[in-house]
Amino acid sequence: ASLVSLRGVAKRYATGTLAVRGIDLDIAPGDFVALLGPSGCGKSTLLRMVAGLAEPTGGRIAWPGGQPSARDIGFVFQEPTLMPWATAQANVALPLELAGMPRAEAASRAASMLARVGLQGFEKAYPRALSGGMKMRVSLARALVTKPRLLLMDEPFAALDEITRFRLNNDLLELWTAERFTVVFVTHSVFESVYLAQRIVVMAPRPGRIHAELAVDAPAP
Ligand code: ADP
Ligand code: ADP
Repeated sequence: ASLVSLRGVAKRYATGTLAVRGIDLDIAPGDFVALLGPSGCGKSTLLRMVAGLAEPTGGRIAWPGGQPSARDIGFVFQEPTLMPWATAQANVALPLELAGMPRAEAASRAASMLARVGLQGFEKAYPRALSGGMKMRVSLARALVTKPRLLLMDEPFAALDEITRFRLNNDLLELWTAERFTVVFVTHSVFESVYLAQRIVVMAPRPGRIHAELAVDAPAP
């Protein structure tokens, strides 16, 4: 069964722009889907609708296993949106604390999540002391710490230098291979989509629509 199922989904903004139309897409548990296409083809709009951050103006988005709560969906943006006054560990622990987990347990889960993204030893560091790639790792840890049903990533690594980006791609792939969480990854990089995803959904602009879908038979890393 699908985790989430889109049928005829469209979005027209108040400005009159038809950002996407006629989107039919099924995401199964464990999928790693890349949404690939040029700027303006509606990738972010589509992701925001799946996240519940924007309302479709046409069609429907169904969750056969039940409507997700906020902590069922992890979101990673290009700009790491970390709280500057909180340590890496406190940033990652926050969603758990908001979900009512006792502080000590949230802290220990945050520390082990940081270790899984390669940040052991940086628990007490503040965001300003971390590089762009490390901040992205903290964002990824914060998104995954609640064990979300779906991880949505909107051009997460686009602002990073090539080497950092390559390392993050490898580490994300390793995490996904070990844990098989469900990912939708927006990118305009052909390289990234082929390297990371099992399914590549190619979008085209004016108005945004699905142009083609490719299955990638990638070897295990
Ligand atoms: P992508 O992520 O592929 O670059 P977007 O989803 O950001 O595409 O944008 C798709 C189209 O919708 C573009 O024409 C963009 O200008 C327009 N758009 C995006 N967000 C808004 C908004 N909040 N209000 C009006 N138009 C928007
Ligand atoms: P396009 O976006 O035009 O399809 P590519 O997919 O070839 O271009 O690459 C997009 C960007 O990703 C380029 O800036 C490229 O330098 C960069 N890049 C190169 N190697 C890697 C890598 N190993 N991981 C992620 N991005 C990479």
